[in-house]
Amino acid sequence: MTDCVFCRIIEKKIPARIIYEDPDCIAFEDISPQAPVHVLIIPRKHMANTLEMGVEDDALIGRLFRAANKIARDKGIAERGFRMVMNTNPEAGQTVYHLHLHLLGGRRMHWPPG
Ligand code: AMP
Ligand code: ZN
Repeated sequence: MTDCVFCRIIEKKIPARIIYEDPDCIAFEDISPQAPVHVLIIPRKHMANTLEMGVEDDALIGRLFRAANKIARDKGIAERGFRMVMNTNPEAGQTVYHLHLHLLGGRRMHWPPG
């Protein structure tokens, strides 16, 4: 989708600090990091959020989490701990309507989240 900022990152039309790519997903540094490690893992396939998932997307969503695990290990935060978040729709604070998994770590996380 040409009006989707994350699709444009996938197409390399706008710059991003991409740290991981595979045939199904890419990951890049969040432009406004909320923790020492803040990476977004996204499917190459455009969907607004989890509400648009179909049964054919089950494996794809699993791949996002497996990519996040690899990035967490590579960045040295796997043992300490990290948080994965998907925000869906306005009350959750979703601002970009291309499904994305936040990987946050490198500091102590709080619960409940704000
Ligand atoms: P959400 O609020 O869950 O929709 O998260 C969207 C995230 O995308 C926010 O953390 C933003 O900082 C981040 N973001 C928006 N535009 C860009 C961009 N061009 N490059 C990297 N991260 C971005
Ligand atoms: Zn998109």
